[in-house]
Amino acid sequence: MTTVDTAPPLDPQSFRSDFPILNKTIHDGKPLVYLDNASTTQRPRQVIDAIVRMYESEYANVHRGIHWLSDQSTDRYEDAREKVRQLINAQHRHEVIFTNGTTAAINLVARSWGDSNLKSGDEIILTEMEHHANLVPWQQLAERTGCVLKHIPITDDGQLVMDTVDSLMTNRTRLVACTAVSNVLGTINPVKQVIQRAHDAGAVTLVDAAQSVPHMATDVVDLDADFLVFSGHKMMGPSGVGVLYGKEALLDAMPPFLGGGSMIRRVKLDSFEPAELPAKFEAGTPPIVPAVGLGAAIDYLQNIGFDAIHQHELLLTKKAHQILEGIGGIRFLGPIPELKSGIVAFVVDGIHAHDVAQLLDREGVAIRAGHHCTMPLHKRLKIGASSRASFYLYNTLEEIEILGQALEKARSVFQRKRS
Ligand code: PLP
Repeated sequence: MTTVDTAPPLDPQSFRSDFPILNKTIHDGKPLVYLDNASTTQRPRQVIDAIVRMYESEYANVHRGIHWLSDQSTDRYEDAREKVRQLINAQHRHEVIFTNGTTAAINLVARSWGDSNLKSGDEIILTEMEHHANLVPWQQLAERTGCVLKHIPITDDGQLVMDTVDSLMTNRTRLVACTAVSNVLGTINPVKQVIQRAHDAGAVTLVDAAQSVPHMATDVVDLDADFLVFSGHKMMGPSGVGVLYGKEALLDAMPPFLGGGSMIRRVKLDSFEPAELPAKFEAGTPPIVPAVGLGAAIDYLQNIGFDAIHQHELLLTKKAHQILEGIGGIRFLGPIPELKSGIVAFVVDGIHAHDVAQLLDREGVAIRAGHHCTMPLHKRLKIGASSRASFYLYNTLEEIEILGQALEKARSVFQRKRS
């Protein structure tokens, strides 16, 4: 994950009209202010058009038919794989496996690599800030194999305590799985360093890049990541498609996870021979159209440029911190804006996160409230729930001001109630 601060500033107004949903007004004419992008993003017309075009003129099943339409569909699907390969700088196209999301990709690794490589007493290192998707599959693996889970602790301001990493590693450490960007704290983790230390200890690494690939340049070769996973819907692609990147040698050695059509070379009544990569891990009819939509989203993002996107989100994050600090009674989760992605999670003194979200919604502002699939992180921070505003390239400084005004209104409603 690399960030540079030399990109010219983004002007979201110059492309906001690409996003039909952002023109919506809700609750008696209030403009929709969509600040729930860490949950899922909105799609530009270009992605919607690519999906419609596919269904209207190029759709058939892939890798199956010996007919023109199937060839067209297969070409579009494989073009999308190549776009993903280029996006993350994988060495080979067959190192890109389409799944239906980050969760599915992590489960694939836990079931396939985990079940065949881990035994009782082996160790997996995670962190205290992981999304449930990067906790539960490993807990399930621990239940199946008796392997042991350890966690890199975090500081009170939401950064990994890197000093503990070496002491957590032992000669039983087999895997280190870490999020690149926390979906709550926004912290941009030093994953390259984590990977290096894991490799020094002879462990395999998995990067949960669900919150980083959509926002910053990603290079799996530079990172030396063994596995890296992300979801299409968090980067303006359709839901139902995600990516598992894995190094060729690892994927080659892993048994298939799901069995069925497409993932075989040969089947007899009592046995089968798996197909080559990537088909080995794409059983059944894959997410054909979602993958093509993801390809269109990648084109759109690359056209704008990840450095510009990151700089824009940093601007929005700084502005949000500044405005929310001015309101008072707000505790931020995570580090200072310079150390994080465009995610601002907070707790408002005396108001439950769900009430905050509901009051903001009345003003047209969509944020998320709850534990954001990170219950252990919330426990570590000694809170039950938080509110989270999360930004993307199409958000504007004016929208951050509306967020601030809506929050101020929410506070005064509650203060009136209490007095
Ligand atoms: N990991 C992180 C860091 C996330 O933010 C999310 C989604 O919020 C996931 C994993 C799960 O992604 P999906 O629901 O697309 O499988």
